[in-house]
Amino acid sequence: MSLLRTAGISVNYGKISAVRNLTIDMKPGRIVTIIGPNGAGKSTFLKALMGLLPYRGSADFLDRPLERQSVQDRVRSGMALVPETRELFGQMSVWDNLRLGAFSRKGASAKALRADLAMVTDLFPRLAERRLQAAGTLSGGERQMLALGRALMARPKLLMLDEPSLGLAPIVVREIFRVLANLRDMNVSILLVEQNARAALRIADYGYVLETGDITLSGEASDLQSDSRILKTYLGGS
Ligand code: ATP
Repeated sequence: MSLLRTAGISVNYGKISAVRNLTIDMKPGRIVTIIGPNGAGKSTFLKALMGLLPYRGSADFLDRPLERQSVQDRVRSGMALVPETRELFGQMSVWDNLRLGAFSRKGASAKALRADLAMVTDLFPRLAERRLQAAGTLSGGERQMLALGRALMARPKLLMLDEPSLGLAPIVVREIFRVLANLRDMNVSILLVEQNARAALRIADYGYVLETGDITLSGEASDLQSDSRILKTYLGGS
């Protein structure tokens, strides 16, 4: 079974072609990463998959075509996107932001939601310490934790993360990636877009390299880590 399969996804902004013919295949329970430099089209691809941008080509999620599905349908069927901008409700508390993450799960019992809040705060104890604080006053790292925690409250089948390490100190990046590894052990599937190729390839099962709108290389993450082109361009080796 395939979790997410795309065939020839292309996105234009007016006359500018941002991504061309992207074809990926993702099996459940895996971490797949898309690495590439600034402006390669990584965010554009995630936004298109979430239904936030029109695209050409086709995409199937859980073997059902996405094309006729609204953003809400995609959320209900188990897709979650944590955008680069995190998009928290700044005036609301950490706790309320987390609770809103479960909004799409209409049938969930209070008990199930409590269990999920406990799961999120086990992963990020800092969020429990800060539960009454307004999200807008959190540090950058705490904000990323909250954005990730809020997405997890939707119990997604596919978690799409746009540059979770962006702007964060190395120690916080390590914490975020530690949680991503835990999530994989909990069988959450993750599509991870990153400029931090080293951290992304270390944790991923499979990777794609996106450069100015085209996939230029793909393979098992362990193979990519030792590929001479990746070493030279993305891992600072020779
Ligand atoms: P970054 O890591 O810097 O976020 P990215 O790989 O996510 O880069 P995108 O943000 O997807 O790249 O951008 C891909 C290309 O599309 C870039 O050339 C960018 O300038 C262009 N682009 C993005 N958004 C728009 C927009 N709203 N209108 C016009 N061009 C855009």
